[in-house]
Amino acid sequence: MPICGVLGWPVRHSRSPAMHEAGYRALGLDDWRYQLLPVPPELFEETVRALPGAGFLGANVTIPHKEAALALADDATDAARAIGAANTLTFQDGRIHADNTDAPGLIDALPFDPAGRTAVVLGAGGSARAVVWALVSAGAAEVLVWNRTSARAERLCADVGGRAIQAPLPPADLLVNTTSVGLQGEDPAKALPLPDAINGYPCLVDLVYGSGPTALTSAAQAAGATVVDGLEILVRQGARSFERWTGRPAPLEILRAAARGEPAAADPAA
Ligand code: NAP
Repeated sequence: MPICGVLGWPVRHSRSPAMHEAGYRALGLDDWRYQLLPVPPELFEETVRALPGAGFLGANVTIPHKEAALALADDATDAARAIGAANTLTFQDGRIHADNTDAPGLIDALPFDPAGRTAVVLGAGGSARAVVWALVSAGAAEVLVWNRTSARAERLCADVGGRAIQAPLPPADLLVNTTSVGLQGEDPAKALPLPDAINGYPCLVDLVYGSGPTALTSAAQAAGATVVDGLEILVRQGARSFERWTGRPAPLEILRAAARGEPAAADPAA
């Protein structure tokens, strides 16, 4: 029985098991399973090394283990190395292979090709590294990074590209929120240097997700922008991991419905 899972701490609220298992069922992979793997940092490495022997084919990795996942891997993709973090491990031929699907997942989720476009990225934490690297690698004309702690934005840009900026923020084709603002219901208009109505950004990506729209996605929608929410980002990185392990195209509509807790409609591509 092929098993995959998600390693995190905490991880009990993860939507990945529902998403991946719905995908397995849709493709007739009836004996495949996807498990929650709540593992504290001190047990991360020994747990990962024990997974292949327990029948695991691969694992997603989330907070706080993404750097540790890259560090213990035998080999890694250029994306994972450049970003300095892995969110997808594959166990093959006795080796641990690390990948980062957050970066291509972001590009997959965008409504346009970012080549030649401009972007403002808010935040300089772990997820910002993948976002900035993805946009720079995809040929964005300019990737500007604002962070509350500006030194962190400068370090990030020195590592993966882009240019650190201070407020006020310039207009751009794309605005990406990678800060955790909005997670606890904070007011983005107070915590972030944004005007009340988000004008000047025809497209907003908000990595934050919860049980409903965030204040930022609601404001952007009201201003007429195209909105990509955090669940779509989750679905797209998950789809890339799904394809890596199963070797089959991910049934996107099925994954999306499962991540949103909606009844699954038949996927036209399945
Ligand atoms: P992280 O490494 O802890 O970084 C947090 C970022 O948020 C930093 O830039 C931090 O700024 C900023 N921040 C926190 N509180 C703030 C405030 N009150 N005002 C202004 N800035 C504030 O976190 P992460 O891993 O990058 O994750 C960030 C968010 O993205 C989380 O909500 C996470 O759930 C979400 N996420 C979603 C997905 C997805 O699939 N949708 C994937 C990854 C992450 P300082 O540097 O100044 O502290």
